[in-house]
Amino acid sequence: MPHDEQFASDNYAGICPEAWDFMARANTQDASAYGEDPWTQMAADRLRETFESDCEVFFVFNGTAANSLSLAAMCQSFHSVICHELAHVETDECGGPEYASNGSKLLVGDGPNGKLTPESIERLVTRRTDIHYPKPRVITLTQSTEVGTLYTVEELKAIREVADRYGLRIHMDGARFANAVAALDVSPAEITWKAGVDVLCFSGTKNGLAVGEAILFFNRQLAEDFEWRCKQAGQLASKMRFISAPWCGLLENDAWLKNAQHANACAARLEEGIRQLDGVELCFPRQANAVFVDLPEAVQTELRARGWHFYTFIGGAARFVCSWSSTPERIDELVKDIAAASAA
Ligand SMILES: *Cc1c(COP(=O)(O)O)cnc(C)c1O
Repeated sequence: MPHDEQFASDNYAGICPEAWDFMARANTQDASAYGEDPWTQMAADRLRETFESDCEVFFVFNGTAANSLSLAAMCQSFHSVICHELAHVETDECGGPEYASNGSKLLVGDGPNGKLTPESIERLVTRRTDIHYPKPRVITLTQSTEVGTLYTVEELKAIREVADRYGLRIHMDGARFANAVAALDVSPAEITWKAGVDVLCFSGTKNGLAVGEAILFFNRQLAEDFEWRCKQAGQLASKMRFISAPWCGLLENDAWLKNAQHANACAARLEEGIRQLDGVELCFPRQANAVFVDLPEAVQTELRARGWHFYTFIGGAARFVCSWSSTPERIDELVKDIAAASAA
């Protein structure tokens, strides 16, 4: 299978050259363990520069741990966390956030295109205020969302207003944060702490690393003793430099942003190709690196028979995700095959 036959997810892609290069550089000599090495210092400093913030930075192995542990740090076990009904924390983390927090309940809200609205949040917060119900404490937002859409700066600020009214903290699941920055053409600061985000989980894995997510606490008080929480959860890498050095590769010369711009551009090309096809519709606006297409089951089966890899997602849509390694040539062939399979 050629590597770019797959559009299943951006975590099917390999390691991007910049990350690979820094992995090799970190391997030329021994270094201190558990993050006490110069690579980890450099990666954290570069993240602080990139976000124009003196934030606290931690590295963990994967996104489920990043979300679960950071949410646990933001609330007590009797608190609750408001998320969208399609949120990864609700649908794809096997109860990780509840487990890590000793029981903080997820309260499920809604809104079009995978995005929580201020109204939905307010409804959840005001529905019950009695002692028998877990007290809302955190809002978690996914940027870009599970359906490939984006929260604008204005939308984030409107949610921050509700958060301020009710004393809530804001967590951001940034599994595809880079794609959001690239698509919105804003600075990382503008759609995080400047828009009221307290904690960000920033994925390196989906951007081009082998492994590794950064957790950024813009609200530094929330990071108190967080390293112990990571260690207890088995998320303190002993050879940390092999997570952090590749992060340096992503951050140097903005490789992370270029990877995301490339993935978004490939998704835009796929969208454009699909828009030329009669009777084939998108399920959600294409705003970042994922394209959701309404394809009958038979068409999906035919595409799989032709070797294409993709998920059937949310309500039966075919989800195609582009990554740093996607190529325009293969996208054009995919469009041709979607046309052929749909016409059959
Ligand atoms: C991929 C993803 C994660 C992280 O998943 P892991 O498999 O635990 O690394 C978190 N949130 C969203 C929205 C994702 O797509």
